Amino acid sequence: MESYKVQQHKFDVIVVGAGGAGLRATFGLAEKGLKAACITKVFPTRSHTVAAQGGIAAALANMGEDDWRFHFYDTIKGGDWLGDQDAIEYMCKNAPASVIELEHYGVPFSRTEEGKIYQRPFGGMTTHYGKGTAQRTCAAADRTGHAILHTLYQQALAHDATFFIEYFATDLIFDDEGVCRGVLALDLNEGTLHVFRGQAVVLATGGYGRAYFSCTSAHTCTGDGGGMVLRAGLALQDLEFVQFHPTGIYGAGCLITEGVRGEGGYLTNAKGERFMERYAPSAKDLASRDVVSRAETIEIREGRGVGEHGDHTHLNLMHLGPEVIHERLPGIAETARIFAGVDVTKEPIPVLPTVHYNMGGIPTNYHGEVVQLKNGDPDAVVPGLFAIGEAACVSVHGANRLGSNSLLDLVVFGRAVAHRCAEIIKPDSPHKDLPASALDKALARFDKLRHADGDTPTADIRLKMQKTMQSDAAVYRTQETLAEGCEKISEVHASFENVRVSDRSMVWNSDLVETLELSNLLDQAVATMHSAEQRKESRGAHAREDFPDRDDAEWMKHTLVWIDEKGKSRFDFRPVHSNTLTDEVETVPPKKRVY
Ligand SMILES: Cc1cc2nc3c(=O)[nH]c(=O)nc-3n(C[C@H](O)[C@H](O)[C@H](O)COP(=O)(O)OP(=O)(O)OC[C@H]3O[C@@H](n4cnc5c(N)ncnc54)[C@H](O)[C@@H]3O)c2cc1C
Repeated sequence: MESYKVQQHKFDVIVVGAGGAGLRATFGLAEKGLKAACITKVFPTRSHTVAAQGGIAAALANMGEDDWRFHFYDTIKGGDWLGDQDAIEYMCKNAPASVIELEHYGVPFSRTEEGKIYQRPFGGMTTHYGKGTAQRTCAAADRTGHAILHTLYQQALAHDATFFIEYFATDLIFDDEGVCRGVLALDLNEGTLHVFRGQAVVLATGGYGRAYFSCTSAHTCTGDGGGMVLRAGLALQDLEFVQFHPTGIYGAGCLITEGVRGEGGYLTNAKGERFMERYAPSAKDLASRDVVSRAETIEIREGRGVGEHGDHTHLNLMHLGPEVIHERLPGIAETARIFAGVDVTKEPIPVLPTVHYNMGGIPTNYHGEVVQLKNGDPDAVVPGLFAIGEAACVSVHGANRLGSNSLLDLVVFGRAVAHRCAEIIKPDSPHKDLPASALDKALARFDKLRHADGDTPTADIRLKMQKTMQSDAAVYRTQETLAEGCEKISEVHASFENVRVSDRSMVWNSDLVETLELSNLLDQAVATMHSAEQRKESRGAHAREDFPDRDDAEWMKHTLVWIDEKGKSRFDFRPVHSNTLTDEVETVPPKKRVY
């Protein structure tokens, strides 16, 4: 193995990721007087959060009656009773303050006539525990993520945080006692290796949508944080729950926000029928995403799909009129024109269910501390390690996330991590010496992949993985497709032994970076397929045709999955937290989920 010179940096806290979650944590930490470093593989404002369109949920009641308890109920029901109710309470109760805080930081929200923050209806968001429709989603036109991300970056610059931009984190560093002490990263501009030491590491690396062939997520969404956690011998949680968004543009995968249906848009089939009326008589097009995606899949399967191949559906917004479209949905009009060649004032947009969000991830409690099952304790904290945002599984989204709850999750738990770190870390505390061998494993892996000289290009393995996930871990699943999928994805994982990296340089070497990313994706692809195979029920986004009902007696529990170096999976479980934190709200016992 080559010997590498590794530069050392010391901070109080290291945040990996500069999306909404990472930036909110970074400046929160700086605000509390902690020395914070934020490491990011892409420029902060290019993080996937920038693409969020529809908005951020908070029961502000600016446009009609609302209450955070209604939001709490909707989130539990939306997640099909797999979410942890203590964390959901924390998120929904802190939502209004978190959004007002964003407004004060400078997010240019759209306004009502009276100058209040504009709020639109979104799927699954109701008043009075399912009875009315809530207008709860705060929006900056259809560019809410863009507005939030730019504002948070400005705030982070205004506070004294240090950014390491275009640095790729490869692995976590632990001491002999299992305390996380830092992270190894590659500076892509200089081609040098760096160890970032911190009293804590916060993973805010986003989702792993790119394990699939067709997804709405950016090419950077490769689940690097989850990969690092699995390699550290820790478990991930609930990976079988992958959200398909009902309105990805046919052929292109780009997202058309649910906000379109919130503003009155609706889906039709080849007969021109508004088919959602049959599947969700009261919520119709604003039922939760898993419900709408399944309905579309059935319409297509039963021969009522639109287009030459009958393989998609139509999203109509012509009736909204150019004025509403121009004011509330300008980005959508542009996306539809560029990616579908459609003028939305005259024609419907061709859409189909597209992979959009990972409910599963790195298990944490509501402080953002990573938890693991240890000596029978399902909530044992891993010292020094935090996770937030889409990389984490708090779990507030349970088996299915409601639209506009993710941006909320980013800011609420980004803030929570800053609070927690300020409680447990004293600024400028000395760093414990690391054992000499602490870096060995991470360096050996980096060197091995850099010099990988097998016979299969990275792109070939990635394509096989993406196609396998797309066909066998789809909207509907059966034992047959999943068993076949498990076998196929394990073969793809094994083929990584033969990967070829043709460029050995360390400066802006996309071949090397994509190979490091692929290794993270592969572990999570295997974990997703195998987790889906072992869960013998239907819940939220996990829809099994052979087990069509939810089975609370057997399966109201979180899946924990470990992947060893050979790609073999192992499972255990954590109970769902059905308790609340305070007596301000009552727990919601499981019920049948109808919209
Ligand atoms: C098209 C689209 C629209 C959406 N619309 C909405 C919406 O309207 N409302 C809503 O609530 N949710 C929405 N979502 C979901 C939501 O936007 C995402 O879940 C959320 O933005 C994820 O934020 P994050 O901070 O966790 O990660 P990201 O924004 O994905 O950022 C990840 C960060 O980690 C860094 N990183 C990753 N790996 C490494 C590494 N190895 N080394 C260094 N840095 C690394 C990246 O550089 C990046 O800065 C949407 C998602 C998509 C894809």
